[in-house]
Amino acid sequence: MYTNVCRHCQKVFRSRFKAYTCEDCKQIDADQFDDIEAYLKEYPNSNALQISEALGITAFEVLNYLKEGRLNISRGSFERLPD
Ligand SMILES: [Zn+2]
Repeated sequence: MYTNVCRHCQKVFRSRFKAYTCEDCKQIDADQFDDIEAYLKEYPNSNALQISEALGITAFEVLNYLKEGRLNISRGSFERLPD
């Protein structure tokens, strides 16, 4: 069992697999992910900061989706932010 903290409501919950959102917030997650995916289709070379500004979610959240491997980066959809 894993102890997880929901990234949307910060609720602590346990699950058999590592999870990032509780049951209540799963839909928020799915919606945000759909938004990001749609945005990347339209603007394939966007970076996390541009996505976060366009969609009103934090760059941290965008990067979390990336870290989870749920966004396809092999086609170069994400670029490193300039230092
Ligand atoms: Zn939650």
